[in-house]
Amino acid sequence: MIRSAVKFLVDTIISEKNHLTALDTKIGDGDHGLNMARGATAALEAIDEVDEENLNASTALETVGQAFIMNVGGAAGPLYGTGFVDASKVLNKNSKLDVDTLEKVFSAAIVGIQRRGHAKKSDKTMLDTLIPIQESLKQSIEDKKNLAEALDEAMTAAREGVEYTKTIVAKRGRAAYIGERSIGFEDPGAVSSMIIFRAFCQFLKDNEII
Ligand code: ADP
Ligand code: MG
Repeated sequence: MIRSAVKFLVDTIISEKNHLTALDTKIGDGDHGLNMARGATAALEAIDEVDEENLNASTALETVGQAFIMNVGGAAGPLYGTGFVDASKVLNKNSKLDVDTLEKVFSAAIVGIQRRGHAKKSDKTMLDTLIPIQESLKQSIEDKKNLAEALDEAMTAAREGVEYTKTIVAKRGRAAYIGERSIGFEDPGAVSSMIIFRAFCQFLKDNEII
């Protein structure tokens, strides 16, 4: 199941390559789709090398993260890589897929990305998708929502996060160089984070896991 989940996410990222690159052409250097597709391809190759008995959510995230760190230049590769690797550390082979676990995964990823990139919420980065997802999951834990409901709400928060990036000035990454002129455009990394999360939710639905 984990192998097919990784494959589905990788295929999704690759299919969004031109879309992500087009977004990055508007406020960056037009390589985000290329970077993500390169990382995704390397991640799938690395996952193929992991034996079935050693493959679980934790080892998968660790493997994917290392593949991004080692194969992707640009800002997003090492940032996503660090996020995936740090998220892997809150999981083990017995981890259950529930709202609590997912919230911990996103929290760990966010802390890792911030340690590496020093961006905050509203700096117009991938964090403007990831932080609203984590906050939504946290709220769902308090409200005792089930996984399906929690994911639906987190997905709404992710979409709103992307929309919000259109309204703000970039403070980190290449888009910060164009300052005010970055207003009106979605942040490419916020969009890629939303796409990955949307694909994850889709995979769970398609496979009747939620
Ligand atoms: P580069 O900017 O080096 O060309 P990419 O185009 O692959 O790399 O990635 C750009 C994306 O990386 C941005 O849209 C933004 O979401 C994200 N990003 C850039 N800098 C940071 C940072 N310091 N913290 C979090 N995300 C960042
Ligand atoms: Mg770029």
